[in-house]
Amino acid sequence: MDNKVLRKLFLGFIQIHVLHHAKEEAIYGAWMLEELHEHGYDISAGTLYPILHNMEKDELLEKEDVKVGGKIRKYYRITSKGDAVLQEARAKAYELFKEIK
Ligand SMILES: [Zn+2]
Repeated sequence: MDNKVLRKLFLGFIQIHVLHHAKEEAIYGAWMLEELHEHGYDISAGTLYPILHNMEKDELLEKEDVKVGGKIRKYYRITSKGDAVLQEARAKAYELFKEIK
């Protein structure tokens, strides 16, 4: 199994997954990391955090710094652009799933 190829593919899945949860409620890195682990993704903080940062740069997510127990925690919510991308990605993923299931 070529891990590099799979990682590239999963990057897209992970971003859709992030958008889905950031739409339901504000998420933060450690929570999302655990969520992805529960879904069987072997991903590290060092991989996920730059993804979140890039999604913020691409204006798919907006960040809010919240002080939690004396520390700053970065919360992310979906933007209207992120929501449009999520809807498009969801439709495409569903269409593909129906075909390959
Ligand atoms: Zn999930």
